[in-house]
Amino acid sequence: MSGSSLRKYRRITVKIGSALLVDRATGLKREWLASLVDDVASLVANGTEVLVVSSGAIALGRTILGLGRRTLKLEESQAAAAVGQIALAGAWSEELHRKGLKSGQILLTLGDTEERRRYLNARATIGTLLKMGAVPIINENDTVATSEIRYGDNDRLAARVATMMGGDLLVLLSDIDGLYTAPPALDPKAKFLPLVDRITPEIEAMAGAAASELSRGGMRTKLDAGKIATTAGTAMIITSGARQNPLTAIERGERFTLFHPSRTPVKGYKTWIAGQLEPAGRLTVDAGAVRALFQGKSLLPAGVKLVSGNFSRGDTVAVLSPEGREIARGLVAYDAADAVRIAGLKTAEIDAVLGYEARSAMVHRDDLAMSAREEASEHVAEEAKG
Ligand code: GLU
Repeated sequence: MSGSSLRKYRRITVKIGSALLVDRATGLKREWLASLVDDVASLVANGTEVLVVSSGAIALGRTILGLGRRTLKLEESQAAAAVGQIALAGAWSEELHRKGLKSGQILLTLGDTEERRRYLNARATIGTLLKMGAVPIINENDTVATSEIRYGDNDRLAARVATMMGGDLLVLLSDIDGLYTAPPALDPKAKFLPLVDRITPEIEAMAGAAASELSRGGMRTKLDAGKIATTAGTAMIITSGARQNPLTAIERGERFTLFHPSRTPVKGYKTWIAGQLEPAGRLTVDAGAVRALFQGKSLLPAGVKLVSGNFSRGDTVAVLSPEGREIARGLVAYDAADAVRIAGLKTAEIDAVLGYEARSAMVHRDDLAMSAREEASEHVAEEAKG
């Protein structure tokens, strides 16, 4: 495959996996980091803004503290992250400084992207850093993250950051050079895919079931990241970081998988809704509602067949087609208990059941982000045929 210029992109988020930056025995891989920073500096010199999402805090802290390979308790991995993060950020800052660049550390907690007010705040800070010409070095705030309240993997965190910042490209540097038709470690006949136009259920099936031991994320979370990115109009590249100058390598024509951004991306406020990592509930709707939603209408209670999850008014819910495929995410106008009571009812019947004058939509169209528009036209076409 021929090379691809990264220079045409305006704002690139680069995510680096722990295994690339940290050697269990010797600690930080300085030489590799320096080579990546050379690549970053050359993009910045070209006028491209670069954001870095760097993993490696826990792995590096483990090595510095001599904790070996044993499984860590939550408070131990939080402590390891505290030790590792300061060393990691220091190394980034030194290497970028060597190339005449400034940097700033941003540590995010799940709520910083999932709650609207905090999302806007994080976006403003990172935007200001970029304006000031500093390279944001971002990681999850692992010292306070617990298993219930965490991103858990930096793939989705990076996708959330890339889309929050209106970036046009997300690069995941990984221990694998891209997407194969099956996990290549399990299937020697697996074929490499240089280009993915749209992340369909068939593409998702290629990722295999579980994450590999090496990376917390594995291919599944990379495709989740891809869905967040491409829905919001951000292209994504997965490539191997296991070589020096991994970004120059992309331009040189080394192997990578490119995921095209959606041709009808969600915008602005809806980017925040579409990328929500954990919807609080699910609404399964009928075929008529699917059609109405893709025509840009609100989701009315009459079209809702099944309500699941324990959500409050204003929470994000996933909207599923009758076949169980996610077609949209939106902010729900009712608590779960009321949503269950009015599902399937006509607008005129709702007030009597609830005992108060309600708004008619279950999810108003202004609060609804469609996930797969191209699929929709197929769906509607099929319906028309049959
Ligand atoms: N935030 C974790 C760390 O820096 C890494 C998460 C991941 O591997 O995706 O150690």
